[in-house]
Amino acid sequence: MKFSEVIGQQEAKVGLLNMVRSGKMPHALMLLGPEGNGNLSLALALAQFLQCENRQEDDSCGGCNSCLKQSKFLHPDLYFTYPVIKPEKQTSPPVSTDFINEWRSALLQTGYLTYNDWMQHIGAENKQGNITARECRQIIHQLSLKTFESSYKVQLIWLPEYLGAEGNMLLKILEEPPPNTVFILIAESTESVLTTILSRVQIVKVPPIQEPDLAAHLLRNFEMDEPVAARISRIADGNMNAALVIAEGQQSANDKVLRQWLLQCFALKQKPNSDGFRELTLWVDDFAKAGRENQKIFFRYALFFIQECLRISALGKSDKLEGEELSFAQKFTSRLAIEDLEKLQKIISQMHYYVERNANPKILLMSSSFQIAGVLKQENVEV
Ligand SMILES: [Zn+2]
Repeated sequence: MKFSEVIGQQEAKVGLLNMVRSGKMPHALMLLGPEGNGNLSLALALAQFLQCENRQEDDSCGGCNSCLKQSKFLHPDLYFTYPVIKPEKQTSPPVSTDFINEWRSALLQTGYLTYNDWMQHIGAENKQGNITARECRQIIHQLSLKTFESSYKVQLIWLPEYLGAEGNMLLKILEEPPPNTVFILIAESTESVLTTILSRVQIVKVPPIQEPDLAAHLLRNFEMDEPVAARISRIADGNMNAALVIAEGQQSANDKVLRQWLLQCFALKQKPNSDGFRELTLWVDDFAKAGRENQKIFFRYALFFIQECLRISALGKSDKLEGEELSFAQKFTSRLAIEDLEKLQKIISQMHYYVERNANPKILLMSSSFQIAGVLKQENVEV
């Protein structure tokens, strides 16, 4: 990938280019920033620039032997590490190369890959991804080999958040990598990254994509008017993936599912012993089949929705909702106190937390629905 293919992020691009051009490229770098900001694309562009045989002033050439291999993610001196699950029928712990074909095909589709999309791509369903100790040993081994074709060997580690304590195996090599070896770590948050790793990398903070850059990209790639592109990039908050989800209309489905659920919870309060319970059970059965990754996306949407309700409650308006979604939010908010909305926010973020940790979705949804019904206690909520 060339730097010119990365959406926006001008400042980050210049910073990275300057590091290479001034000969001050650190041997371990971490690009840190929120999902959908293009961190992974920037890392791929940097790797390609480092290995390009015919570097231009501010980008790789795109045409040399090395760039051509990079464009298919086939360069022998570029190594990828990313969270994986155990393949079926495999007894040994998984390593990233078990899924290298899936990884290349995912990157060919988008340089804005998210953890959720990646897990779906490899059919993880309810399994959690992981970077194993066996993978760490593989990294150490492969970096000890001579470079094949280029002057730089690049080890990319996508989402070091999924490295557990085994990440400590990499401390020595991160501190003193073999000559001409560069580590590029791509992380969304430092919270789950080992502090021992953090202290051995140079952190480059990459912000969300700026609204005008995101809107310009949407206008180039979708048939939409300027005001629509501007609105979507405002809702997306600099997250390319969120922008695509909205642009492709996926959000409207979550929007309906959420409305249906809140109405079921309310019905439960009004009809606690009969139809209300049966209807909710049907909804829960249906939703439990959606798969954990989709459920997590749904809860993220639900949190976004409640956040906007809180904004309506406090400021009287929401810049991010419109149409049916907005009128539902307004009615919903008008019947609830801020404290009630905050309780809902807490319940839903707990659900997101437990879904991430493999909780049984049916039990979780039923018990949380009762909690929500408890909050929606007023008799006259017509939402
Ligand atoms: Zn090149």
